[in-house]
Amino acid sequence: ATPMSIMTATGRGAQMGVLIKNAEALERFEKVDTLIVDKTGTLTEGKPKLVAVMPEPGHDEAEVLRLAATLEKGSEHPLAEAIVRGAEERGVKLAEAQDFEAVTGKGVKGRVDGKAVALGNLKLVKDLGLDGAGLSAKADAARDEGQTVMFVMLDGTVAGLVAVADPVKASTPEAIKSLHELGFRVVMATGDNERTAKAVAARLGIDEIRADVLPADKARIIQELQSQGRKVAMAGDGVNDAPALAQADVGIAMGTGADVAIESAGFTLVKGDLTGIVRARRLATATMRNIR
Ligand code: ADP
Ligand code: MG
Repeated sequence: ATPMSIMTATGRGAQMGVLIKNAEALERFEKVDTLIVDKTGTLTEGKPKLVAVMPEPGHDEAEVLRLAATLEKGSEHPLAEAIVRGAEERGVKLAEAQDFEAVTGKGVKGRVDGKAVALGNLKLVKDLGLDGAGLSAKADAARDEGQTVMFVMLDGTVAGLVAVADPVKASTPEAIKSLHELGFRVVMATGDNERTAKAVAARLGIDEIRADVLPADKARIIQELQSQGRKVAMAGDGVNDAPALAQADVGIAMGTGADVAIESAGFTLVKGDLTGIVRARRLATATMRNIR
């Protein structure tokens, strides 16, 4: 690549919110055939809203929500925010949690009013030695709507379920269409449940999903795709995404994300949505065509 055309591309990229690290990133991106994206915050708005609280028999709806929201005050996860806001909107008074602990990719636990309380996905239910078999069926109707279901545990029993919905960004359907036209296979990776992931993917025409993914699994998934001969770009934003961004042929950091994600990436998108990836690909193709 000539330094001049790369400089021009870098300048044009910056004007449209695509920050290019170096010529190599541009060259590699032209050859990418597979794009891995996060569901939460990339395809969706990343601002989930509480839509349902479902107590188990013998438990009270407001109390289930109070326990859940009291615990979630200690978490910075978007799901936590949804639950706390939902409780506030419903006029539920929160207590103070003790021994709060976040369990990465699974949920949160601690004590409320001296009782052991936990909230999270089926992995967390199983970690705590509880049987989630009967619960999954109850959660499936909500998941088929694309909602995320979490289980509220109290003193060794499941006290209820909470469901949140995270709307798809307005720009996502059109961006996916463009990505397909540009020759990408689009893979959605999410820590969310498979059933929820499938419901969202089906609406958007996503080609492939990897669900129930722990942050640490993402680099391994990329390796697996690469070993099948794919050239992989990965879009991510979290501190936890840095190893995967580095493993990808091209890492794409969402500019709203962590510094370490940006350092590991070949591209940074000032605005964290897929439209930036469409622009970056067009720019890469045009620049490389110019050079050859
Ligand atoms: P993603 O970014 O794809 O949503 P995460 O790894 O952040 O994936 O979360 C994976 C799953 O773990 C969530 O779908 C949820 O079920 C559970 N989880 C994570 N953090 C929390 C939390 N603070 N409260 C409740 N559940 C949580
Ligand atoms: Mg996440």
